[in-house]
Amino acid sequence: PASSPAGPPSTAHSEALFARARMVTPGGVNSPVRAFKSVGGVPRFIASAHGAYLTDADGTRYIDYIGSWGPMILGHDHPAVRQAIGNALAGGTSFGAPSAREVELAELVTRLTGTDKVRFTSSGTEATMSALRLARGFTGRKFIVKFRGNYHGHADGLLVEAGSGLMTNADGPLGAAAPSSAGVPQEYAGLTLVTEYNDPAALDALMAARGHEIAAVIFEPVVGNAGVLIPTPDFLAALHRVKASGALLIADEVMTGFRLSLNGATGLLGLTPDLSCWGKIIGGGLPVGAYGGRAEIMEFVSPQGPVYQAGTLSGNPLAMAAGLATLSTLEADPDIYARLDTYTARLAAGLKDAAQAAGVSISVNHIGSMLTAFHLEAPHGSVGTYTQAAGSDTAGFAAWFQGLLARGIYWAPSQFESIFVSAAHTDTELAATLDAAHAAYAAGW
Ligand code: PLP
Repeated sequence: PASSPAGPPSTAHSEALFARARMVTPGGVNSPVRAFKSVGGVPRFIASAHGAYLTDADGTRYIDYIGSWGPMILGHDHPAVRQAIGNALAGGTSFGAPSAREVELAELVTRLTGTDKVRFTSSGTEATMSALRLARGFTGRKFIVKFRGNYHGHADGLLVEAGSGLMTNADGPLGAAAPSSAGVPQEYAGLTLVTEYNDPAALDALMAARGHEIAAVIFEPVVGNAGVLIPTPDFLAALHRVKASGALLIADEVMTGFRLSLNGATGLLGLTPDLSCWGKIIGGGLPVGAYGGRAEIMEFVSPQGPVYQAGTLSGNPLAMAAGLATLSTLEADPDIYARLDTYTARLAAGLKDAAQAAGVSISVNHIGSMLTAFHLEAPHGSVGTYTQAAGSDTAGFAAWFQGLLARGIYWAPSQFESIFVSAAHTDTELAATLDAAHAAYAAGW
């Protein structure tokens, strides 16, 4: 069983693959957090995934809390998704011409989210990047506002004080807009103004001073990329006030879309953005992103309007089929979000008990099927800002992560990420996870 290994499982095959990978790929991985750099140890190379489980190249099974970083809300290898991809595959893999599934998925997404029009891309990065170009084209303004520790993909202007793999403890003054990556010219970064999430006064002050120059305020409606941060009602009200300046409000729902509800975090929180971005779940585990919003704005997109955006594989039939099957399955199961919520709330409570039993301070933020256990003592009971999150004991987290992994639990390999619960996680997985969490803390993490 996952929670009581006979001895440390072998990682020989993962080690050998990682050595080969490092010879031919920077850092041995195709996306940085996968390399386990901040937690140490050998990244597990995955051979297969079914339901709530991953199996690595050495044959070790893990309960998976990454879910491919969000897309796999139904669990891996879901029969409806597999069948839909198979059906699409029989008809060819890419056409470079419009096809029916793109229309069906656009109809479904617009109906579920109350959006007028959507355009599909192949990743979340393309979606946010394109939404910002559209906002600039529509408003004729050039500055954008983002929040410290929010991550919106790896486009130049968004790699500014970004979260996820870029989150470090280095802090500059508000609005200083320091690039988070080499290769991002200061001139680009200078068009991105940065302020603190969950600080309504700072956002109001920035909008009062610069609002007339700002094309868009982009934000994670619930943050996953600094660990989970939940917006306060006052902050949500300040986000609404942004619109008065003529700037567009862009909700980046790449992580939260279809995860927190059929209408994402904005639906749950009662926010009405001008534009929204999606990714992850919308492609059911295949590469898809999308952006959408009111018709008058979306009509600025090429070929209808002057804002150019395109993609060789955009609207790919296999990806559309996987997205359609995933969203249809979610829609057909009205209780699914309540079940995910219950599992995650019980996981949160159990983690707090496990840490407390070992005398370890943690602060657990969770909403729907997203959760982060920050290893710190939160002054007011919960972590609300990037700055607070950045004060976590990352070494302690890393040791606990390794304790979980050795006991068959694949947690997110970073303190500053959300974990994702899927519909395939049952009481069995919950009990095994909490046993492992207790044991990992008790073993001195
Ligand atoms: N926006 C958010 C909120 C994300 O979490 C991510 C990815 O984690 C992105 C954008 C970028 O999406 P992708 O990795 O598909 O380019």
